Amino acid sequence: MTLRYGREVLAMPGPTNIPDSVLNAMHRPAIDIYSGPLLEVTERCHEGLCSLFGTQGHAFIYAANGHGAWEAALSNTLSAGDEILVLASGRFAINWGATGESMGLVVHTVECDFRDSVSPARVSERLRKDTAHAIKAVLVVQVDTASGVVNDIPAIRAAISAAGHPALFMVDTIASLGTMTFTMDAWGVDVAVCGAQKGLMTPPGLSFCAAGAKALAAHESAGLCTRYWDWTFRRGTEHYHKYCGTPPEHMLFGLDEALRLLQEEGFDKAIRRHTLLARAVRAAVEMWAKGGVLDFNVAEPDARANSVTTIRMAPPHEPSRLLEFCRDTCGVTLGLGIGGLPGFRIAHMGHVNAPMMLGTLGCVELGLKALDIPHGQGGVQAAVETLAEGL
Ligand SMILES: *Cc1c(COP(=O)(O)O)cnc(C)c1O
Repeated sequence: MTLRYGREVLAMPGPTNIPDSVLNAMHRPAIDIYSGPLLEVTERCHEGLCSLFGTQGHAFIYAANGHGAWEAALSNTLSAGDEILVLASGRFAINWGATGESMGLVVHTVECDFRDSVSPARVSERLRKDTAHAIKAVLVVQVDTASGVVNDIPAIRAAISAAGHPALFMVDTIASLGTMTFTMDAWGVDVAVCGAQKGLMTPPGLSFCAAGAKALAAHESAGLCTRYWDWTFRRGTEHYHKYCGTPPEHMLFGLDEALRLLQEEGFDKAIRRHTLLARAVRAAVEMWAKGGVLDFNVAEPDARANSVTTIRMAPPHEPSRLLEFCRDTCGVTLGLGIGGLPGFRIAHMGHVNAPMMLGTLGCVELGLKALDIPHGQGGVQAAVETLAEGL
């Protein structure tokens, strides 16, 4: 039999659950793109994004997924043959670097352990070797969605400054913005990228690039710049230019409502909600791990993300069986292991609350039991206690 009928829960790290009010905001006729209310929507979205990024700089909105924002960040600031340094934490920074390589950039890498965060000392050490300052940009993710690692962005910034290196600092916040603190200007980040479909609770299809003064200055001589991504063109006065063509208006209606929801809750409170729900998930995993089969992917507790928890499963146990059970019998979709993770992922990002997370944990625990996967007892109980103490 199955227990899946009822509202399904998406506990994969993107796309994430979309609030009904965001869906409803999109359910309306198309409107004029040259004048009227859409211009205000654009303005509110730009302002909302800048305040979420924590910048006085500019935010650009692309009709693209996160891969598009990666390309926008690089093409607007760099020229063919420029060197970049990729802090290869998890999977996504490596892929961002590969995007750069395909555009004609020369990629250098600081290798990282899949189970640990970027070491700022190693960043500093690598940059000190670049005495000619050939490296033009340093790329890192705040949260890697494959490994579940969170990187210490201010510490990495400090490491770049300690090496006296002038490279642009670019941060991918696709799996972190809205779920943990990020303050672009205060942290000395030059370019930040994000996508709509994770912490921002909007359907996939929009991505964002925020640029500070140093990045905008580099943009003046960026040889890789092409019309679609071009920051200068998009800063033109015509509304139509801000999207380099027809605005993705329904996506914008959705984003506008999602940003309103975040503002209504308060960014700080949204971060506290994510922090506590993440702690509850980790409390459950800690209990399950006592069975000797499951374990955290991220060894260091401080390096575990607020938005996704990555769990290893020892062979011969098959994570796919647990994922299928949770989806087909319970109506919860978990994240499969990607980037070489031998296990699965539980997302706790965006439109999530206590019943959704306790329900998800309960279903995982049910699956572990039903499938005879050895695990320590009391995971859900530990999550409940964590929530009770943390409120
Ligand atoms: C999801 C994700 C991406 C890729 O975003 P797409 O919208 O799938 O292109 C990039 N970086 C991080 C950290 C992500 O979590």
